[in-house]
Amino acid sequence: MLKAPHRLGLVFFPAYDWAISPTHPEREERLLYTQDQVWEEGILDIDGITEYRPRPAGIKDVERVHICVPDVRSRAGDSDLIAAGGALVAADAVLRGEVDRAFAIVRPPGHHAQRIVYGNRGFCNINIEAIMIEYIRRRYGPKRIAIVDTDCHHGDGTQDIYWHDKDTLYISIHQDGRTLYPGSGFLPEFGGPNACGYTLNLPLPPETGEEGFLYAVENLILPVLEDFRPDLIINSAGQDNHYTDPITNMRFSARGYARLTELLQPHIAVLEGGYSIEGALPYVNLGIILALAGLDYSWVREPDYSPAKVAQPREITDYIARLCRETYAAWRQRHEIRARSVAGRKEISRQRRVYYDTEGLLELQKETTLVCDDCAGLTWIDSRCADRGEHILAVFIPRDACPRCRQEGEKLFRRADRRTYTGVYLQDRPEDLLLKE
Ligand SMILES: [Zn+2]
Ligand SMILES: [Zn+2]
Repeated sequence: MLKAPHRLGLVFFPAYDWAISPTHPEREERLLYTQDQVWEEGILDIDGITEYRPRPAGIKDVERVHICVPDVRSRAGDSDLIAAGGALVAADAVLRGEVDRAFAIVRPPGHHAQRIVYGNRGFCNINIEAIMIEYIRRRYGPKRIAIVDTDCHHGDGTQDIYWHDKDTLYISIHQDGRTLYPGSGFLPEFGGPNACGYTLNLPLPPETGEEGFLYAVENLILPVLEDFRPDLIINSAGQDNHYTDPITNMRFSARGYARLTELLQPHIAVLEGGYSIEGALPYVNLGIILALAGLDYSWVREPDYSPAKVAQPREITDYIARLCRETYAAWRQRHEIRARSVAGRKEISRQRRVYYDTEGLLELQKETTLVCDDCAGLTWIDSRCADRGEHILAVFIPRDACPRCRQEGEKLFRRADRRTYTGVYLQDRPEDLLLKE
């Protein structure tokens, strides 16, 4: 009997009854072929590979991360809660030491869901990785966590949630936002005033091949992880970089994904996107499973694979090398960059427009953060969504709040003019509370 060198937990939640619409790429049968492949290859018979059943995440698990307007049940369905809960089950299996690694093969995905949620963005309602990470911290104690997002789309939701948190390093490699939804994810998006450098974006040009992805992992991601020294590495394992994916333009293969996983050695992988449901997903998932378990994946091969399909033009090779150098240099200078950007400032504000493509909603935000050397800094967001008839104030007291930031946050929440807003929210991380008035 085959024995896995690393014990691996697998959680499947294919959500066979959930779709955005019958012809939408995010539809019922998306994981059907993957599940067949895993069964056919006898993966679950391998000694050391264990299947776990998902459970729904609780409302509180979601509220720890999101301000859903008006509330969680209006914005997250049963499938969303079970997808998030599948990630929680994967986390428990690893943190309790039952397995060395885990892979949550669940849908719907989550990495476009931001702190405030008025509706679905990029197929996502709630952010399943973030819900998992905050659950881990609540249940197992504070951790330094790195999220490496290898989905083809920029994970703008995860970036937003961890924008101010220097204990959570967010690294995203994705197709350049000038050519793909959601249009963001460039080097200047580098983290908030108290977490400068802990958001790193590497926008890769369309037609990036196997070589480019693996170069970025070896020459940027691994060196940064070595500097950051996380307790846990989480991989947002989107599979839409595959050369057959219908909604993107990259040239990555199943074996490439397996090699990437082998290099990254994530503790927990969570499926994100991937819409070539027959031509890619069964092979990519198989490759990731084998690599996580420490087994040979060299035989995994798509029926239509050829080296020409994953080759990249020479100019892309040079461009990625330059981009990795610049990004790594910025990471090394993050403390100096922060000192310059906050010099003499008490607070820093930014205005943002957040578009909800699935439902056609527009949100306008003004976000303000106190510059603070002692914690992640009090943050508040004044947010309007005219399409939903909402104008809310959301106050965020960070996990490591210093006494001053806590006091200011409580004052802001108490004193906010209830006639101006349709809702005033206080997310109090240290107390694990969400208050709404
Ligand atoms: Zn994607
Ligand atoms: Zn503070």
